[in-house]
Amino acid sequence: MEARYDIAIVGAGITGCAIARQLARYDKTICLIEAADDIALGASKANGGLVHAGYDPAPGTTKARMNARGCELYGRWSEELGFLFHRTGSLVLGFTDEDLATLEHLRDNGLANGVPHLEIVGPDRIAELEPRANPDATCALWCPSTGYVDPFEVAIAAAENAVANGAAFMRGAPVTAIDRPKEGGFVLSTPKGDVRCEILINAAGSGAGEISRMAGDRGLRMVWRQGNIAVLDKEPRAITPLYPVPTPVSKGVIVTGTVHNNTVITATAEMREQGDKDTYAGDVEALLSGARKLVPDLDTRRVVRTFAGGRAVLEKTNDFLIEASDSTPGLFHAAGIQSPGVASAPAVAERMEQLLSEAGIELVERADWNPIRRMPDDFDLAPLERKEELIETDPAWGRIVCRCETVPEAEIVAAIHRKPGAISVEGVKRRCRAGMGRCQSGFCQSRVVEILARELGVAPSEVPLEDTGSWIVDGPLKNPDAHTGAIAEEDC
Ligand SMILES: Cc1cc2nc3c(=O)[nH]c(=O)nc-3n(C[C@H](O)[C@H](O)[C@H](O)COP(=O)(O)OP(=O)(O)OC[C@H]3O[C@@H](n4cnc5c(N)ncnc54)[C@H](O)[C@@H]3O)c2cc1C
Repeated sequence: MEARYDIAIVGAGITGCAIARQLARYDKTICLIEAADDIALGASKANGGLVHAGYDPAPGTTKARMNARGCELYGRWSEELGFLFHRTGSLVLGFTDEDLATLEHLRDNGLANGVPHLEIVGPDRIAELEPRANPDATCALWCPSTGYVDPFEVAIAAAENAVANGAAFMRGAPVTAIDRPKEGGFVLSTPKGDVRCEILINAAGSGAGEISRMAGDRGLRMVWRQGNIAVLDKEPRAITPLYPVPTPVSKGVIVTGTVHNNTVITATAEMREQGDKDTYAGDVEALLSGARKLVPDLDTRRVVRTFAGGRAVLEKTNDFLIEASDSTPGLFHAAGIQSPGVASAPAVAERMEQLLSEAGIELVERADWNPIRRMPDDFDLAPLERKEELIETDPAWGRIVCRCETVPEAEIVAAIHRKPGAISVEGVKRRCRAGMGRCQSGFCQSRVVEILARELGVAPSEVPLEDTGSWIVDGPLKNPDAHTGAIAEEDC
């Protein structure tokens, strides 16, 4: 079986999803192909979620342009795509004269990259901007355009908008071979069937080297700059992002709030074996001690989760590669999007659109293109009147399944039926936060399994934690009807 599309995008991380969304406005058929069983399971789920402003990358690099422009576009993208984005500003804290010199250098970098309103500030202003910042800091770079998002929410929102505008999404479909037939274009082999396309966009993260090689282009060599991250319980007020003075390869250990008021400590940077997602005691200790230097009163015992991800870095360059292949017509790369790929995603998508135009591909806007994706109802954040309205329409809005994050049954059901919807426990978590809280799903996981089984019409033993094979249930449940019936009233 062979499906035909004008454009195939390989990789449904934040880069591929943003590109799909950008191109879905045009009169082209698009398929977004993902090896994993859901959106944003690569680097896009395991990062700090910071929309860095763009004062860090060296002026003139692709990364610098993408970062500054991406940060600028986030306001519009969050309004159109209905995801939470808080533009809080950030402080890079300095403690010595040497640090001050580095901050001045960063400010000049930022100005060259087009980052607005950068300012060096002193201790009084630091205390005003973030009262919990280390009072020993003598100077800081204040950057008002920095913000943060839930990165997987951005990818999911972009993919949903692309699909609403006609794009297809193939999950569980690793591209294992690429043929270039004589008549032109590409035929991609996947376990879900072949995909024929005229234009192939390589947004495969750490798999980008392999896609390039299979498509007949130069072998891009990828290395894995791994990072550990710690998430702390919620604070009454989210901490304004605080950065240390950066090192040549990393922004260092940053403390930031999140859109849901957690605190995140992000991230270490170590060259490790491709695919290594382990957390390391030494890394976690480096995170906690780094965080205490920025926020001395941070209670680091309140860690609810540690995890790791890998930045897909192109060997021998610290830059992104966003270009048309010069040896394989029709192939375009968005590769080496190591960091800051979250901050840059809207700009990478815009640049890809330009590259297609420059290559002579006619992009005609569809009359029915709709840039808007409505933000799904978030019961926890909804005002009281909206909560009442929702419960009135369906009592399942009043049945709280995840108590840490106040997620009711109806919100989980909605997450499963979105397009593309959740098909795993973690997929539900990324879409509506059930299991994201302090107890890390100890309380609600079995209920989420039941709801998934019921809504998808499968047995609980067929509901995975994440990808196929990560089964949770290995036998009959106490309530044998759980996967077909509603949750028992007495449980609610
Ligand atoms: C610890 C850490 C902290 C970070 N913090 C930040 C931050 O705060 N702010 C920021 O801007 N950036 C941050 N980053 C960087 C950011 O996470 C990445 O730049 C971004 O997620 C890259 O997105 P992507 O879509 O290019 O890659 P990915 O998210 O990795 O997506 C690539 C996708 O391609 C799929 N794929 C691969 N091969 C194939 C194949 N053969 N067939 C089909 N599909 C395939 C993969 O399954 C994957 O889903 C951080 C990264 C790390 C690791």
